[in-house]
Amino acid sequence: MNKNIEELRKKINDIDTELIKLLAERRKVSKEVVIAKKESGKPIRDQQREMELLNKIISIGKEYNLDSHFLTKIFYEIIDDSVRLQQKYLQNYKPENDAGILRIAIQGIEGSYSYLASTQFFAHNEEELIFLYKDTFDEVVEAVEKGEADFAVLPIENTTSGGINEVYDLLLHTTLSIVGEEKFQVKHCLIGTQDATISKLTKIFTHYQGASQCSKFLASLPNCEISFYSDTAMSAKKIVEENNPQYGAIASEEAANLFNVKILKRNIANQSENFTRFLVCARKPKEVDLRIPAKTSLVMATSHTPGSLAKAISVFHKYNVNMTKLESRPILGNPWEEMFYLDFEGNTADPEIRQLLDELGKYTRFLKILGTYPSKDIVKTKIDSFADASREPEIEKEEKPVEKELPKKQKVKKSYKLASRDYKPEDTIIKIGDIEIGGDNFIVIAGPCSVESHDQIFACANEAKEHGAHILRGGCFKPRTSPYSFQGLGFEGLNELEAAGKTFGLPVITEVLSPDQVEAVARQADILQIGARNMQNFSLLKAVGRCHRPVMLKRGMMSSLDELLNAAEYILSQGNRQVILCERGIRTFETATRNTLDLSAIPILKELTHLPIIVDPSHAIGQRDKVVPLAKAAKVVGAHGIMVEFHPEPEKALSDPDQALRFDQFEEMMRDLRKL
Ligand code: PEP
Ligand code: MN
Repeated sequence: MNKNIEELRKKINDIDTELIKLLAERRKVSKEVVIAKKESGKPIRDQQREMELLNKIISIGKEYNLDSHFLTKIFYEIIDDSVRLQQKYLQNYKPENDAGILRIAIQGIEGSYSYLASTQFFAHNEEELIFLYKDTFDEVVEAVEKGEADFAVLPIENTTSGGINEVYDLLLHTTLSIVGEEKFQVKHCLIGTQDATISKLTKIFTHYQGASQCSKFLASLPNCEISFYSDTAMSAKKIVEENNPQYGAIASEEAANLFNVKILKRNIANQSENFTRFLVCARKPKEVDLRIPAKTSLVMATSHTPGSLAKAISVFHKYNVNMTKLESRPILGNPWEEMFYLDFEGNTADPEIRQLLDELGKYTRFLKILGTYPSKDIVKTKIDSFADASREPEIEKEEKPVEKELPKKQKVKKSYKLASRDYKPEDTIIKIGDIEIGGDNFIVIAGPCSVESHDQIFACANEAKEHGAHILRGGCFKPRTSPYSFQGLGFEGLNELEAAGKTFGLPVITEVLSPDQVEAVARQADILQIGARNMQNFSLLKAVGRCHRPVMLKRGMMSSLDELLNAAEYILSQGNRQVILCERGIRTFETATRNTLDLSAIPILKELTHLPIIVDPSHAIGQRDKVVPLAKAAKVVGAHGIMVEFHPEPEKALSDPDQALRFDQFEEMMRDLRKL
């Protein structure tokens, strides 16, 4: 009898070995198929064929008395594996270096969920995986930005506890692109030392996410103190280090095995189907083969106009594109404003999707594409349980084509797009509090050339407010021709400018000189100014393009309007759609004035671009008693506003003393402008 069982077992083992061999053989053929498909340009999946295959399998199964549920379950897995394998062939993740290693930065340690998700994601890679374990998500992103690691793997959302806000906020600012996603089933366990039992526990170490996903179970242990830890594997490690039977932790089964601790209870999460979605980020975006089902993630802020979010979202409907996620987050530093994070099924390499994004851009004041990546949701082919395997499968009904907005014909091909009227026919209106810049509005920006002291900037703010100016200016970082001239008060000056603006209810504008200043200045100023000398400082333009404050871009003193609009394009193409142009005079052969104010630029720019245009007569003419007529001319010629310099004691001004208006001149100018 025993011998018989042994024989039978051997037989089963032989069959299993045979099954494994056949599965391996099937994989090999599947790989040959993808190579053939690559040559023919055919899509990876042929769901019609998959459906026929499944129906056939079910009908063969019936002949052998195998039930269809059992067979479909197995073959879904086989097809899934085959699709993943074929996708991997078209979309591999090679590091930039050729050292045969992949450096992956994660928050946490070996055995953490980020670690487990990474090993799952890179499972088909031949390279050796080297992990860089970091304490915070910030450090993970920084490691890749600096080139210490090739990929950052970051958790973004959990099906029970929701989005991970810190990671969303990081995505907004990072220069990294999303190149992949992974979905990992989280199976939380309660673990302890070898002598521990649930009733003995007095303290449980856990990551806050773990605690929130297992809140119901934890509530059933009212006598246990919860001690928060930076990740789940770390909690497991703590158990080993403390070796106290009264201590428990929430961690994965894998972490429990890795640290050789006892599992006291499995599946303690509120929801048994508990998944975490991870994003894989790299320094450069990765193009996804059009034959692979792809997803794209973006972050946007919609314009301050009624219905703009609805209009933005309707673009997806118009193009028949499926949105898979919409999440909103407050914009740090801009109370009551929201950024929308959106995922949709589509590939930025697809011209239709590019057209969709162009159209979407018209309803946004910030739009950043975070990346296109292969979708982890492998759609299961539906099978019709009543289908007759011999019947020809039905051809899917053709979708009615949706009407698409065709790009308008351009007379001359321009090197800029987002800045042009062809792209966006209606005026861009930039809102800062109650103030609107652009459209039919005319605004006045006034203030000193430089912030010099508390008293000086407060006197200026008072004067500006009293006489109806809308925005307070003041240079804190000054681009001076001579290195020996006053360079500005820096952040000390910015504190005063911000305080003066707040006291008098005026938004403030100040110049930024370098990319590494942008983030800090954007925290305190309402508008960032790019000075004439920096109009083609491309790294600075890109940096302000990534922030969400409006930017006023001054025309370079030797720049054509085409160059000005291309400089604006640098900012717009980084995501920031709130750009104001400023004509401040250009250098000509004329030496009687500081510069030559090019007023003809205004009607030309208004034709070429939808962006608001401000005139700065102060830097143009350079003489205080001739500023006012130019300011009036600017209004007449159609500018959306002016920027002027004034000073309580112009003769004593530390920069540009000759052009600063006296307060009485400013008051007269405001009176005159109102009459026009
Ligand atoms: C300014 O407006 O403070 C300034 C320095 O002007 P510009 O860059 O036009 O010279
Ligand atoms: Mn100045």
